[in-house]
Amino acid sequence: MVSRPRKGPRRAGPKPDVPTRTCIGCRGEFPRSSLVRVIRGPAGEYGIDRYLRGPGRGAHLCYDRTCFETAIKRKALSRAFVHLVVNAPAPDGEALVQETIAAIEARLSDALVLARRARATESGADVIEAAFGANRVLLLVLAEDAAEATAARFRALALGTGVPVEIFGTRDSLGTAQGRALVAAVAIEVESWATRLSTEFGWRRRLLVAT
Ligand SMILES: [Zn+2]
Repeated sequence: MVSRPRKGPRRAGPKPDVPTRTCIGCRGEFPRSSLVRVIRGPAGEYGIDRYLRGPGRGAHLCYDRTCFETAIKRKALSRAFVHLVVNAPAPDGEALVQETIAAIEARLSDALVLARRARATESGADVIEAAFGANRVLLLVLAEDAAEATAARFRALALGTGVPVEIFGTRDSLGTAQGRALVAAVAIEVESWATRLSTEFGWRRRLLVAT
């Protein structure tokens, strides 16, 4: 299960305490939900705790290549688990980055299914075009293998209305998420879902870009 965006009016008064953790790369303190949680298995293998629900101890990192690289250089990852595993192999920073990207993409796929169930998405060229016309589109997800003409048409609509476009998945995988055969684009129309997806896309971008 995924935590759903909070509904109803916001409470007045002081904000409830947000749990924070320290990034073992930059040593900054951030909300726990904005950090990658690295865990280790019984054989010492490193893994990513995709939904921050894994048991045991974890080490936290920003969704940022620099923090991964700093942590590896400083041996901060090995140190974080030193009590747990003896003679375990050294972590592979690039493998961890790739695994984190895979975790983000799995969460994006899950979120697109949940957003559709929450009636926060539209798919189908005509429906999306109408949604753009009514200024209802907040984020457009375009399939990697969308036909060139289709992609150009959606991009023009998005550009004309200032809607961000993210490339993700295939027509097949987006179709599955939307309960259809093939889908070239998914329009997100509810702000909480657009924000959640945009956050994940932003994290993915920071990890994909090599420094
Ligand atoms: Zn950091």
